Amino acid sequence: MKEYYPADLRIAIVGGGSAGWMCAAYMAKYLKDVRISVIESPSVGTIDVGESTGTHFATFINKLGIDVEDMMRETGATYKLGTNYAGWTGKDSEDYFHFKFNQSNANFSKKIDKARKYKAKSIFDRLQLKHNHNIRDYITVNKEDRLTDTFLSAYNSGQLKGFDDWHGWESFSKLNKFPAELFTQRSLQYAYHVNSEQLGKYLRDKVAMPAGVRHIQSHITDIEYKKGSNAINYLLLEHGGFEVADLYIDCTGFKRLLTSDRHTVQYDTPANTAYVRQRDYNDPAQEMLNCTRAQAMNRGWTFEISLFHRQGTGYVTNSDRYPEQELIDEFVNHFKHTEEPRKLKWVPERLENQAKHNVVAIGISNGFIEPMDANMFGIIANGITNTVDTVRAQRSLLKTRSVDWTEQNKNMASIYDDVKDFILAHYTLSNRPGDFWEDMRAIGRSQNHADMVRDKYMNPANEFRHGDKQSFFPDILWLQLAINWGLDVSDWVKDKDSTDYVQYQLDTIGAIKRHSSKFPNNYIYLQNIYGMKSEDFKKKILGDVD
Ligand SMILES: Cc1cc2nc3c(=O)[nH]c(=O)nc-3n(C[C@H](O)[C@H](O)[C@H](O)COP(=O)(O)OP(=O)(O)OC[C@H]3O[C@@H](n4cnc5c(N)ncnc54)[C@H](O)[C@@H]3O)c2cc1C
Repeated sequence: MKEYYPADLRIAIVGGGSAGWMCAAYMAKYLKDVRISVIESPSVGTIDVGESTGTHFATFINKLGIDVEDMMRETGATYKLGTNYAGWTGKDSEDYFHFKFNQSNANFSKKIDKARKYKAKSIFDRLQLKHNHNIRDYITVNKEDRLTDTFLSAYNSGQLKGFDDWHGWESFSKLNKFPAELFTQRSLQYAYHVNSEQLGKYLRDKVAMPAGVRHIQSHITDIEYKKGSNAINYLLLEHGGFEVADLYIDCTGFKRLLTSDRHTVQYDTPANTAYVRQRDYNDPAQEMLNCTRAQAMNRGWTFEISLFHRQGTGYVTNSDRYPEQELIDEFVNHFKHTEEPRKLKWVPERLENQAKHNVVAIGISNGFIEPMDANMFGIIANGITNTVDTVRAQRSLLKTRSVDWTEQNKNMASIYDDVKDFILAHYTLSNRPGDFWEDMRAIGRSQNHADMVRDKYMNPANEFRHGDKQSFFPDILWLQLAINWGLDVSDWVKDKDSTDYVQYQLDTIGAIKRHSSKFPNNYIYLQNIYGMKSEDFKKKILGDVD
């Protein structure tokens, strides 16, 4: 344990869910001379759902510098290669993949370098070397690091049927294989399935507290404001003490303990309820999936998320609009659950301003739309990094209460609004039959969502670049949405394309398809990381619950 030291900046994080501990871990690493406290109520639990993540979260975890496989072993996490959307288009073939993880030229050139280093041992390495010259040319010409035009040209000319032909992960997902060799070279983008509660505890015990973060287990009973101001002066604790800080972070989830008086922006997304239930594996080699599964249903959609010791399932729908028992029956029958599910209900919204005076909201307290596209852990990561940037830039002002949060508030509002647009278009552009989907399509037509998706793709601010500072949903994700949902993209090419690059990609995908059956089963691969079977890990993790 680090010694506490007199710090010139005091930060009080209220809430010990995953948002609170992600925040504490990151701030302890990236802010110097701070005293960070996490205050967690012993009587109010964490939300204990939320298991699918995206690449923003994976980047965040890497920035914490933790041993990822250790984190996985302690939390039951698995690797996630993408999301399998099933039944959304209404076509005959209901299944397809919507792999959202980007791959930039920078990644490809890294792969080429790695291939050299490993002396071109594998079929993939040999392909990379074979095409090296042409791809290098392509990268040199396309300094902007964009691949979408190349994809679009090949797609529009009929060389590719969709993104499955481009990424090739379909083969791994269909066979539930893990692309170990490609993966261990770390040239792929990936994320995790992770239990939010266990993640919070891991970051608490292995990152935040060893770095000197104080953990106060007490319920906050009152908030004292500074005289003549809306800034917080101190927090009153149930056991009689108080906590005073320069900056307060509200991570109290739906309670919004420090921010309940703030204006909100409400969203017109259709879901406001989820019925959730965990289930055990019968045959982990078959059932432990390397992607999140999102299945369209009569009145919403279900998620299926594979941790190492169990699956999380849920039905995301609207319990104000439809009879509750019908929704529960649909969910229970779909997954063959034998027990009643747990119900979670929310208002889809965000705070108008994430930060005001000396209080910032991070996590569900800042807003929650719905679980689609595993957006929240990414939003949380962005909320934290934005806050750290503002604090670093204006640290001295925190003592005088005149921090300018305008830029940060704008960033976070635009992330939420983008997420809302992205989610809504999944519903409104779907051709799935049924009353619910008909209503969604009517909204899509009246709000012209096909054009909205095109505008997002064309927006230069969304051009995908390798590195940190990219928009939450870069252009390639809007393009995947457009292609998978069947929009006409024949005039979407913005820039140059590269025939050489397409050939390289087609050769690689061909090789993947031919060789994918030789890769290890997803569960077997994970079993090696865990050093034990799923059922033994389940006993261990249940024994560890504190
Ligand atoms: C159905 C559903 C599915 C979801 N799926 C996903 C997903 O797949 N991917 C994803 O990224 N996100 C998902 N989310 C969101 C995700 O669960 C949350 O964003 C994440 O767990 C962070 O929660 P939190 O820390 O903000 O809040 P919580 O976990 O609710 O933590 C709140 C904390 O505040 C404390 N607290 C409350 N009141 C007081 C008080 N008076 N004094 C002191 N402490 C107090 C509590 O003790 C607790 O520690 C989902 C959400 C829902 C509802």
